[in-house]
Amino acid sequence: MVDRGAPEFRDFVELYDRAPLLELGRLADAMRWRLHPENVVSYIIDRNINYTNVCVADCKFCAFYRRPKHGEGYLLTFEEIGRKIEELKALGGVQILMQGGHNPYIPFEWYLDLLRYIKRHHPIHIHAFSPSEVDFFAGRFGMSIEQVLRELMAAGLDSIPGGGGEILVQEVRDRVAKKKAGADRWLEVMEIAHRLGLKTSVTMMYGLGESSADRIEHLFRVKQAQAKGGGFTAFICWPLQPEHTELEHLGKTDAVTYLRTQAIARVVLDNVPNIQASWVTMGMKVGQVALRFGANDFGSLMMEENVVSAAGTTNRTTLAEMQRLIADAGYVPKQRRQDYTLLPEAA
Ligand code: SF4
Repeated sequence: MVDRGAPEFRDFVELYDRAPLLELGRLADAMRWRLHPENVVSYIIDRNINYTNVCVADCKFCAFYRRPKHGEGYLLTFEEIGRKIEELKALGGVQILMQGGHNPYIPFEWYLDLLRYIKRHHPIHIHAFSPSEVDFFAGRFGMSIEQVLRELMAAGLDSIPGGGGEILVQEVRDRVAKKKAGADRWLEVMEIAHRLGLKTSVTMMYGLGESSADRIEHLFRVKQAQAKGGGFTAFICWPLQPEHTELEHLGKTDAVTYLRTQAIARVVLDNVPNIQASWVTMGMKVGQVALRFGANDFGSLMMEENVVSAAGTTNRTTLAEMQRLIADAGYVPKQRRQDYTLLPEAA
C-alpha cells in the first residue's frame, strides 16, 4: 500500500507538479545514464496482433472494442495470425505482441491451441495476454491466476505485456474501467507471473481525470511490485487518446505533460531497467525529445497497430527513419530482443 502522507511521496508529487521542465528532464536523464551508461537507444521490430475486438469490459476510454453480436466484431483465424507472423519475420521481426478483447465466446482451449499452433508453424517470441485478459480467463474458466499462467506458459507463452494498467488507483479505475481487473488484481497477476519466471512490461495510461498524486501512487505501486519480483523489463506511459471514446470531453493532454510524466517515472522507478518512449501516441519529434527525458528505448517499429489508431492517432515509421530519428537525437540505434538484450549487428 502507498502512504500518501509520507514525506517521500509528497516530495515526488511536488517535483512532478512544480519542478521546471528541464530540471525534471535533467534528473531523469541522469538516472537514464546511471542505468545505461552506453550511448545506445534500442528498438524492436514487432507486430501487434489483436486477435479479437469483441469485448464485454466496456472501458470508457476504448475506441477499439465491439460488443458481442456487433456487426464489426471479429476473431482472427490461426491461419490469419500465422500469415501476419510470416510478414513480420520477412521484415526481421522478432516478437509478436498479441492482445485482444474480453471475448466471452472463446473457450480456453482456443488460446492454448493458438499458442501451440504459433510455436509449431511460425515460431517466434510470444508477448501476449495482458493481466486484464489473464484475470478475465481466470474468472470465465473458473481457474486460479497461477493455473491460467502455467497452462499458457506450457503452451508457448513467453512473456506478458503491461496492457490494462491505466492508473493503478481503484477510484480512478471505478470511473473508467469498472468491469476490468482492479488495481490490486492487476498487480497480483504481475506478481504471480514474475514468481513463475515470466518477464513483463508495465504501463501507465494517464489523462483519465486523475490527480498528480494518483499518478505518483501508480508509480509507487509498480516500484513496490518490482521490489518483490523484479520481473518488469520496461515501463511505458502514454496519454489517453480520447477521440471516438466516451471520454472525448476530457481532451488530450499535451507534450509537456507527457515529458514530465515520463521523466518522473524514470526518477521514481529506479528499479525498472528500461523506459520506452511512446512515439506512437506522441509523434516522432516528441519521441526524440523523450530520449532526453529518461527513455533509453524507442519502442517498436510496429507493423500493425489497431488500438491507438481506432482513437484517431496514427504515427507510422520505417526502419530507416526510426534509425535516423535515433541517430539525429544523438544516439546509436540498436535492434533488441524482447528482453532488451541487443541483437548482434548484421554482418
Ligand atoms: S481496453 Fe481492452 S478490455 Fe477495455 S474495452 Fe477495450 S478491448 Fe476491452
